[in-house]
Amino acid sequence: MQDILAQISDEARALFGQGKVASYIPALAKVNPRQFGIAVAFTDGQTCSVGDANVPFSLQSISKLFTFVLALKAIGDDVWKRVGREPSGAAFNSMVQLETEHGIPRNPFINAGALVITDILTSHYAHLDYALLGALRKLADAPMLNWNTEVAKSERGTSHRNMAMAYFMKSCGNFHNAPELVLDNYCRQCAVEMNCVQLAQATMFLAHSGRNLGQSGQANAQFLNADDARRVNALLLTCGAYDAAGDYAYRIGLPVKTGVGGGIVAVAPGIGTIAVWAPELDAKGNSVLGGFALERLVELTRWTPHAT
Ligand code: GLU
Repeated sequence: MQDILAQISDEARALFGQGKVASYIPALAKVNPRQFGIAVAFTDGQTCSVGDANVPFSLQSISKLFTFVLALKAIGDDVWKRVGREPSGAAFNSMVQLETEHGIPRNPFINAGALVITDILTSHYAHLDYALLGALRKLADAPMLNWNTEVAKSERGTSHRNMAMAYFMKSCGNFHNAPELVLDNYCRQCAVEMNCVQLAQATMFLAHSGRNLGQSGQANAQFLNADDARRVNALLLTCGAYDAAGDYAYRIGLPVKTGVGGGIVAVAPGIGTIAVWAPELDAKGNSVLGGFALERLVELTRWTPHAT
């Protein structure tokens, strides 16, 4: 695996310059675009990584995976009264479907859906920040993990579009807290930083029938039940890459979650997890080198979304 990752890294780095770092969140525009890291964590506890796999990056939309799982754990199937589970086929921050669909977002991984999920968690937890950070620190086995305050502030100062969606959903009765409060929480969750090794570790439960690995004394702790882990993977496969979800399913075929920080996490159920990061994005907001690297990895390993 180490050799495969080294080969993929060489091939991917030849693509530097083909995308652009996200600039609509000013703090993200400052990130050096020429970075690439990839890490694979296996269900037996082994890990491999190359390149900038230890450099922390902004989770952005990848945080939506974790908040959705927390909401599922908190209120179970009631989440489906507030959000759908169909691909949107529209941009991650699009609002066009919201009005015709009465303020019920298509899925929890587009911005509108993630805002509803953060609204659910804001109602559920007295201190959501700490509940979320606590869960992520345990999952990633990274006690110092935190959000980047500059990125959170920068996004909060420019989140007019997300705020508009929150108010619209409130007018439809699908938003229970003050939009300002939920946006504060949402911007902090998006600004959480992890590196590839930590991200692969943190999502291990999705490859391992809901079981987490790796923390001292917590190995094999059941973080999510196995049925829900399977369902979350299905949702990641169909909705995890915005309006490129079909293209990703065709090229890569694994459950994925992408983020505008340039990170992508992918799940090979029964085998392990892959986290890749390269900040240059394509027109749909997905990492150019990250998508390429995952495509090469499945070509070289033949990993599929079915447990072996
Ligand atoms: N924080 C970003 C936003 O709300 C997340 C988008 C993303 O990563 O796709 O626009």
